[in-house]
Amino acid sequence: MEIRDRYAPSPTGLQHIGGVRTALFNYLFARSQGGKFILRLEDTDRTRSEAVFVQNLYDTFAWLGIPWDEGPDVGGPYAPYVQSERFEIYRKYAGELVAAGRAYYCFCSPERLEKIREEREAARSGETGYDRRCRDISPEEGAERVRSGEAHTVRLKIPLGETTRFRDRLLGNIEWKNEDINPDPVLLKSDGFPTYHLANVVDDHLMGISHVLRAQEWLPSTPLHVILYRSFGWSPPEFCHLPMVMGQDGKKLSKRHGATSVDEFRRQGYLPEALLNYVALLGCSYEEGKDLYTLGELAERFALEKLNKAPAVFDYKKLEWYNGQYIRMKGDEALAELALAYAIEAGLFGGAGKGPGPEEKAAFVAAIPLIKERISFLHEIPEKLDYLFSEPPVPAAAEFIPKKSDLAHTIILLRLGRDLLENLAALDDLGAEALVKATAEKEGIKLGDLLMPLRVAVTGKRVSPPLFGSIRILGKNPCLTRTDKALEVLEKAGAVQDSEGL
Ligand code: GLU
Repeated sequence: MEIRDRYAPSPTGLQHIGGVRTALFNYLFARSQGGKFILRLEDTDRTRSEAVFVQNLYDTFAWLGIPWDEGPDVGGPYAPYVQSERFEIYRKYAGELVAAGRAYYCFCSPERLEKIREEREAARSGETGYDRRCRDISPEEGAERVRSGEAHTVRLKIPLGETTRFRDRLLGNIEWKNEDINPDPVLLKSDGFPTYHLANVVDDHLMGISHVLRAQEWLPSTPLHVILYRSFGWSPPEFCHLPMVMGQDGKKLSKRHGATSVDEFRRQGYLPEALLNYVALLGCSYEEGKDLYTLGELAERFALEKLNKAPAVFDYKKLEWYNGQYIRMKGDEALAELALAYAIEAGLFGGAGKGPGPEEKAAFVAAIPLIKERISFLHEIPEKLDYLFSEPPVPAAAEFIPKKSDLAHTIILLRLGRDLLENLAALDDLGAEALVKATAEKEGIKLGDLLMPLRVAVTGKRVSPPLFGSIRILGKNPCLTRTDKALEVLEKAGAVQDSEGL
């Protein structure tokens, strides 16, 4: 049997983590089995489906690098893959069910349905759904009323007094008393549009879907779907309802917990590899002691047996860790390329929206190794490197002073640093370090103390990316200029102290 599964989103919102997880697991399962992964747009809700959300779907999966084998954009043997282009098919199949006595025409008006709902609510009867009033209208009478143009829906005739059983690959055997299933749900609405249940089942059957992997929130619909398959005389696909994704507080993951839409993660500077790797672990255990997987490695290892029943907890900190890992795996040029948009937006090259000149671009790439190990997000790059592209204001004198030191000594240290600058910029980092160490030893001062004032002078910060690399990228003269300005500030502060007799 050919393994075929699908991601069947309704384009009524932005793609979020839950949807991506469902799509990814379907993709991995299909790949692991040498099967096909299909995209189908379930846009039967015409008021809530929007073209922007379809575009968002395409953009999201293009960015993530997850392709489908068949779908609205790439075509395939079961096209069209968009439900709004298949309405004739659903009407035909609904008609067949009616003809077979498995479904019936219902002529109840929305007002009547609303009235029963209100009456039951007032009586606190606990009953819900349709009261099956039209179930016993004879097929002849039904057909006649339809012919005469009476408004109608088509409802599924749920067999009463039976229990529906099916096996879920993760949750095991499931049974529902038919009495507990929403009474005779609508398959075709009065405007001729199908409901989710009809379109979903007809399409999964016609498209040869062998496995339905979907979120657990769809589990309550599955008994109904199984009845629908059997009513058509079709065998249902295998079902596997995926574990829920929760926030740390045990509630369903939502905006309250943080970013949920892929767009947001993307804007925040997450890499697609990190997001995919992390999402692939939400509710699935691969092997002990290995965290990082490529998409290919995941596909090799994925198996339904490795899914967990327990809900998965979305851990933003862990995702951040993954992002840092994938950032470090990037080559410098590639990372610079990815970070460039953030740098331009942050105004790193002389104003928001301004791109780098050739020298700035080269400096940006050269600076990447300085910060690669220290960041988790792309957007951190411009703020960490700002001093390389514009001269920072000289900090207040106190900022320059190493711990347990004082201003007078700091001035001496910075003068020593200035002398070193004459040679430092021309050396590689190891050579620079050796020179500074030797000087510190010769002068009998701590290496850290020698470096602190120079660091603040050159970078404007007490904590900065590696100093020698920064000096190398900036070049000797800009560093000398900054150091001279800093010395001026320190000497002025020293003169004030002297005059105050401190
Ligand atoms: N259109 C449904 C959704 O939006 C599909 C559910 C299913 O996979 O059957 O998630």
